[in-house]
Amino acid sequence: MTNKKTKIVATLGPASDSVEAISAMIKAGMNVCRINFSHGEIKRHDETIDNIRKADKNLGTNTAILADLQGPKLRVGKIGNGGKELIDGEVITFTTIEAESGEDKLYMTYPEFPRDVKVGERILLDDGKLTLETVSTNGKDEVTAKVIHGGLLTSNKGVNLPNTKISQPCITEKDAKDLEYVLTKNVDWIALSFVRSARDIIELRHLIKAAEKHARIVAKIEKPEAIDDIDDIIRETDAIMVARGDLGVEIPLQNVPLIQKMLIRKSLKNGKPVIVATQMMESMIEANTPTRAEVNDVANAVLDGADAVMLSAETSVGKYPLKVIEVMSRIVKEVEKLDEIYHHEEPPAEIHESRYITNSICFNAVRLSKRVEAKAIIAMTFSGYTGFKVASQRPRAEIFIFTGNKNILTQMSLVWGVRAFFYDKMVSTDHTMDDIKYILKKEKMVREGDFTVHIASMPIKEAGMSNTLKLDKV
Ligand code: PEP
Repeated sequence: MTNKKTKIVATLGPASDSVEAISAMIKAGMNVCRINFSHGEIKRHDETIDNIRKADKNLGTNTAILADLQGPKLRVGKIGNGGKELIDGEVITFTTIEAESGEDKLYMTYPEFPRDVKVGERILLDDGKLTLETVSTNGKDEVTAKVIHGGLLTSNKGVNLPNTKISQPCITEKDAKDLEYVLTKNVDWIALSFVRSARDIIELRHLIKAAEKHARIVAKIEKPEAIDDIDDIIRETDAIMVARGDLGVEIPLQNVPLIQKMLIRKSLKNGKPVIVATQMMESMIEANTPTRAEVNDVANAVLDGADAVMLSAETSVGKYPLKVIEVMSRIVKEVEKLDEIYHHEEPPAEIHESRYITNSICFNAVRLSKRVEAKAIIAMTFSGYTGFKVASQRPRAEIFIFTGNKNILTQMSLVWGVRAFFYDKMVSTDHTMDDIKYILKKEKMVREGDFTVHIASMPIKEAGMSNTLKLDKV
């Protein structure tokens, strides 16, 4: 397995969902498998999840599964005759009644469209390739719009309404059904699309808790409203995704790079993992090498401090799903040679924080590891909190997490630098620290003479918050 700090999330699809393909991709550096519920049938997803688990079992790995819910994605309906050419300046009509769609009326699948949209608001079609401006709405079932920038519109293309307040809930009927299914499959992470406020995360958390499941939440940031509420969203979520595809349609493209940097900075500060997504290696859907700009994009995401970089169509339907992971792993590893990406300056824990003791322990563990050039920071954790917190400070030292909580093992695969091991022998703190050191030495992950920094919770049997720091030598 490749040993890099920045994780790779790869979307699985027809090009990559067999046990053989998944196994090869894990060996090449894939850490998280994303299943996109915007495409495919439940039966196929079911097989994919089984295949991931089989590959993991064969390889002894802990690959995370990320189920990505479609959210309130707006679309136009079916358009006959290979599509409709929208001419600049013409006024076209949308209807929300499918039976009325045809030559002169385009079907919009979103029933609240005439009630939500206001005159003058922009309507963007097909990832923003076509731009329209609302001329009128009857507030019921019809909207007219002037074509500002036209082109060919084909069936089922996405619609973005960047200026419109969408009344549709964040978790749609389809999402609720998909969620019910993914919760039965015990996936590790659930991504919520088109998050608009922290309330959307609270609602999803409530549904996961009600089902007594452990999945953690990734908030996909792709709406201007989410940027406005970002501090509260980051506080409520477990991770975020810079979903640059829709984000770049909803806000001016030139604003995306600085928003990416802002989102990474805030996530790191809050100890929440952050994924940079979309078009990272887009040209490799067809070509067997990336463009120079794509190589730079991946490298810059690593430099910015992303926990993970993501692949979409490149691995789900692309021609070179394995090669793209190999190339991405090489770029990541090269950038990780640079000192600059390590030891983010984070202010020490504040005394009023509820996790003041753990936060102080993690802060000082990373400082100490830097000072003594420790080989590894080794933590025992049940909730995973210590892993997230240590990783967010980006130590040079390896981060080894030992846990008796099987859910954490796979979830941690998304988190920068963390390698997790199952361990449930809780005899005494002294015994456990020695035992873990012995295991790591046997696995050649530490060597005689290496310094190690241990984080533990004492008394060990209570499995409470981390409160103990020990500097040791192998
Ligand atoms: C995105 O818009 O960048 C994204 C990741 O979402 P999706 O692939 O679901 O459109």
